[in-house]
Amino acid sequence: MTLESLSLSLAVEPVPVPRAVPPRVDGLRDLVGLSRAAIADALVEAGLAEPKPARMRARQIWGWIYNRGVTDFAAMTDLGRPLREALAQRFVVGRPEVVQALVSSDGTRKWLLRSGGVEYEAVFIPDADRGTLCVSSQVGCTLNCRFCHTGTMKLVRNLTAAEIVGQVLLARDALGEWPQSAQPTFEGTRQSEGRLLTNIVMMGMGEPLYNFEQVRDALRIVMDAEGLALSRRRITLSTSGVVPMMARAGEEIGVNLAVSLHAVTKAVRDEIVPLNRKWGIPELLEACQRYPGANNARRITFEYVMLDGVNDSDADARELVRLIKAYRLPAKVNLIPFNPWPGSPYACSPDARIQRFSDIVFAAGISAPVRTPRGRDIMAACGQLKSASEKLSRAELDRRAAEKEAAW
Ligand code: SAH
Ligand code: SF4
Repeated sequence: MTLESLSLSLAVEPVPVPRAVPPRVDGLRDLVGLSRAAIADALVEAGLAEPKPARMRARQIWGWIYNRGVTDFAAMTDLGRPLREALAQRFVVGRPEVVQALVSSDGTRKWLLRSGGVEYEAVFIPDADRGTLCVSSQVGCTLNCRFCHTGTMKLVRNLTAAEIVGQVLLARDALGEWPQSAQPTFEGTRQSEGRLLTNIVMMGMGEPLYNFEQVRDALRIVMDAEGLALSRRRITLSTSGVVPMMARAGEEIGVNLAVSLHAVTKAVRDEIVPLNRKWGIPELLEACQRYPGANNARRITFEYVMLDGVNDSDADARELVRLIKAYRLPAKVNLIPFNPWPGSPYACSPDARIQRFSDIVFAAGISAPVRTPRGRDIMAACGQLKSASEKLSRAELDRRAAEKEAAW
């Protein structure tokens, strides 16, 4: 094995959680992220209920957490007072800590969140007919796509199901959209302002299929009819092409699939999406063919970032059409203008070039809209996410660490 292939194989392997998520300092157990059955088990384990009534109690608690957004056991009024008090002594309904909340001039919001010693971001994108939450699955990403800011982060760990669901709960808190919630929220927005979270895209930081179990468990909670109840048709999971996990994603999660294709030749995709050296375009498109539930009513989205002079020629557009037709894929294309970040090695294709590319694909009968960049002014657009702590200079990080040590 050459040095180059060794480092490549290391770079594209799934990462385990490298450090255990530190336990909460208060010693309490977070109920967020547990399935209903796991909540029931936790109640039995804590000696708070016999197995049968525990199932009923778990269902009630579930409704409070995911239907009403309640975090305080005292407010769970259909549980007896002694049980509520006992719950509060052992458990918590957690939220990630909001380190920073930013609002873009176009209404996009970005939250820098912290939990378990790491920071990650979630982005809310309001549109006329929908509100989409872009959710992170990992802190950083091991895959190093050359145009992506997240890929340059050094620190990587998988987020837990609780941390993934927590982003949705936090957004609902901030948007003030829990049913019958009369409470003003910490950002002062209320449901009446009409910014409701209707869609979820797993397109934040990280590769969701390298954190499959936690993403699956989190999305099952988000889709649960007695809780957040988001339809799987309103959820899209984006992968850079983790071929062996795609069928499982379809079977065990069943949401819409988006694939970060970005190039139509091996040479270009190998360079900009290094994972392509492990699973190439033919393998990826075959996995798309087999994706359960893909049909003309539920198309697979191919994401294609427009990089000036790299992947944006007429020939590239025609090859994209040829591939989609050759593999008979029920597909649409989403053209993403490249969002620059400090030190990024590419430029975005000129508008006219993007339009021409789009026209060629549309002319072949395949939908290829250009995605309007959102939240660029707060570095919230596709591929710009990178938590603030990572952006600090080494000197600043050292200074803060010394400060912390002094405080101990
Ligand atoms: N890791 C997953 C999901 C997160 S990225 C994936 O790669 O699919 C969401 C989308 O933004 C992907 O299509 C990604 O390729 C794209 N993207 C990354 N960096 C970008 C940038 N700087 N400008 C525009 N799109 C970018
Ligand atoms: Fe990771 Fe996706 Fe960014 Fe590639 S584009 S580095 S897979 S987050």
